Amino acid sequence: MATINPERLLRRLRVLAEIGRAPDGRLVRLAASYADKLGRDALVAWLQNAGLDIKIDRIGNIFGIWAPKGVDERSPVMIGSHIDTVIDAGALDGCYGVLGALEVVETLREAGFVPRRPIALAAFTNEEGVRYAPDMMGSLVYAGGLDVDEALAKVGVDGTVLGEELARIGYAGSTEPGFLVPSAYVELHIEQGPILEHEGYVIGAVDNLQGISWQKVTLDGVANHAGTTPMSMRRDACYAAALTIAFINDLARNSDSSSVATVGSMRIEPNAINVIPSRAVFTVDLRDPDERRLRMMEDALAAYLRGLPMKTGARVSVERLARFEPVRFDERIVRMVEQAAARRRLPCRRMTSGAGHDAQMIARMAPSAMIFTPSIAGVSHNPEEATAEVDLVAGANVLLDVVCDLASDAEARP
Ligand SMILES: [Zn+2]
Repeated sequence: MATINPERLLRRLRVLAEIGRAPDGRLVRLAASYADKLGRDALVAWLQNAGLDIKIDRIGNIFGIWAPKGVDERSPVMIGSHIDTVIDAGALDGCYGVLGALEVVETLREAGFVPRRPIALAAFTNEEGVRYAPDMMGSLVYAGGLDVDEALAKVGVDGTVLGEELARIGYAGSTEPGFLVPSAYVELHIEQGPILEHEGYVIGAVDNLQGISWQKVTLDGVANHAGTTPMSMRRDACYAAALTIAFINDLARNSDSSSVATVGSMRIEPNAINVIPSRAVFTVDLRDPDERRLRMMEDALAAYLRGLPMKTGARVSVERLARFEPVRFDERIVRMVEQAAARRRLPCRRMTSGAGHDAQMIARMAPSAMIFTPSIAGVSHNPEEATAEVDLVAGANVLLDVVCDLASDAEARP
């Protein structure tokens, strides 16, 4: 059984984690920024050194392709993730999947493995969506879910245009997104949650990814004096928001499924101690692995909001920000992950991905699955993000085995 080179993988993870480190010590490599360019340059140099054929598509996705002579170029085994980061990021989110994939390719080449189909490494543009919405943009465009010109025209939170920024950093490629339709896509990623560590598992065989519903709720009341207005005569927007927040939290807490509900951002106006709030604006993030239950939560929230004017006098408006249905990953690949973990005697469990990933987009065009490794204390999107080195190595070895299986199987068609 071949094994990856742990030192090489860990060293590259450390090198990439220093690229885009701001003077204040924070790691910030936002999509299509100059820091992202430096990260991309390092990755491309490594891909070239590994003897891979580099392709950049129009949305800036980077591919490193290994297609031995005589194999059909068109349906590669694709492996990868993303290297853009959030603000004040950790070292592993996304980068682990890309550098783990590179490590797998180099290990296979050194072992003299001859794949029966090409192996393509992918680093997708703007997975995090911090600078340009929506998130998972590069993989969404690649899978045909968003028009490339529409995506390139997106204006960022800093007023920049994605297409211009990609051109500025030298990563506006000419290849059409979707130019390779993978026979399979596998993404190695840290869990970004507490389950594997808490339950003592090393490998998560991710068989589904929960649906996500994002909404923005605006409640309008009437500003008035906090001392002179009797409680019965108020139209307090913040009170109405508080009731709604409590309602959706109770809804998820009392659900018999794994539903989660979060109000993560809120603004009230005029935001003064002695003024009854006239307006409250907040976001709602609902998630569930089951589309029917996710819709039930959305419906319950909508019904509650319909009753809110009677109860509080507040006017309600709702804007939908994003909606992704749950994704079922490919059973055959999930089983390969489980079998690889078993062969290496690594405790493995099936699980749901709580976060969104490029794999959910590529699953629209190819059989896909993910491999998770434990996040220490479940922390991610945070400089404290960490995974035990032995677990990072274990995850990459499982990816190695799965890629071996998939690339040996020239007959199987999706
Ligand atoms: Zn990620």
